[in-house]
Amino acid sequence: MIEPFHSALPIISSLEKAGFSAFFVGGSVRDYILGRPIHDVDVATSATPDEMKLIFPRTIDIGIEHGTLLILHKEFAYEVTTFRAEKEYVDFRRPKQVTFIRSLKDDLQRRDFTINAIAMDKHGVLIDPFNGQEAIKKREIKTVGKAEERFSEDALRMMRALRFESQLSFSLEKGTLEALSKLGFLLEKIAVERKKTEFEKLLLGANRTLAFKHMLDSNLYQYLPGLKDKKEQLYKFLKYDSIQLNLNEWWSLFIFCLGLKNKEVELFLREWKLPLQQIREIIKISQFLLKRLQQVWNNYDLYMAKEMVISSVEKLCLTIKGKKDLSSITTFLNLYQSLPIKSRSEMAVTGQDLMDWFHKTGGPWLNETILNVERAILEDHVKNEKITIKEWLKECNQI
Ligand code: ATP
Ligand code: MG
Repeated sequence: MIEPFHSALPIISSLEKAGFSAFFVGGSVRDYILGRPIHDVDVATSATPDEMKLIFPRTIDIGIEHGTLLILHKEFAYEVTTFRAEKEYVDFRRPKQVTFIRSLKDDLQRRDFTINAIAMDKHGVLIDPFNGQEAIKKREIKTVGKAEERFSEDALRMMRALRFESQLSFSLEKGTLEALSKLGFLLEKIAVERKKTEFEKLLLGANRTLAFKHMLDSNLYQYLPGLKDKKEQLYKFLKYDSIQLNLNEWWSLFIFCLGLKNKEVELFLREWKLPLQQIREIIKISQFLLKRLQQVWNNYDLYMAKEMVISSVEKLCLTIKGKKDLSSITTFLNLYQSLPIKSRSEMAVTGQDLMDWFHKTGGPWLNETILNVERAILEDHVKNEKITIKEWLKECNQI
């Protein structure tokens, strides 16, 4: 058996030795059949979390009420989930209560799409009661059971359908697509964090444009943060196909298409509940992008932006202008490399030097003077040497 399944075999064997059944399930089995890279291996078992804890010495509770336990084995961690049925769905969201069950088939039945409802035993034999393999062959995303019912149980599944469409370049089965167009409004009930996870995966998928188009045509976008009245702007986003961007670059391009500026960018990203650090990075890219679209980089902006933002902004600028030649990215990164200083700490003068020279204590003047010197160094008006800077300040009548 191939990795990463092979390393996880002892988990399955230990559960079986104790009299339980256990299988590989979910995305890892789907990706294995597809020949895609496999990230995390999920295991489903008939053992309850309490029963698992008696078998494995090292476990972490990560969702015990849903039957999920993290089992630590050697240097790896495996998510092992008790077979469960989700009976009572409340308010179109995740079930309020789950029932632990002993049947694999019933566990597979509660899963979202047939491609995600295939199990694999320790010998590599597939258990596929909902014809997931056939769907994989047909490259089709189809709900397990009636789409309308499944989307009404948990509306997030509609977003998941689109993200799998984007990630796997599969098409949506007719009934699944129709249900999506009908029931988009149910997404209003879903926590933003869950929608964000799926939306970001959609953005990063190879078939993003088609998935995005379905999101627009089905009116699903109306139930996503900050997008209600933005259909026209969102259609602009469809133009940017077949390019390689990272997540923050996608967000920045998205913001550009929406025409958001200044404070609006932050409010929008906060609504999507992005982490603060990520918000800061996207704001920086967005601001420099707008500037870059108006004018070429100057040394000071290169210095303020730094390598990662320069490369992101340049990539986005070329994308927006429809240029395929990426060599200007290297040009500007080289220009950044040749700057006389890369950070304030590399300046040859310190605040203390300035206070000594001016015979003054600290205050707003100090920061202003440091800023002037910093700019002058970057714009090659003065060399980054202590004596030269002192002379330059004298010449400018600043001392
Ligand atoms: P990825 O490769 O992105 O992790 P995945 O298919 O493993 O994709 P997960 O979100 O990790 O997706 O979920 C693991 C499995 O749990 C899915 O394959 C599916 O069987 C089931 N699942 C996840 N979310 C839902 C849901 N909202 N409704 C029903 N089943 C779900
Ligand atoms: Mg997964």
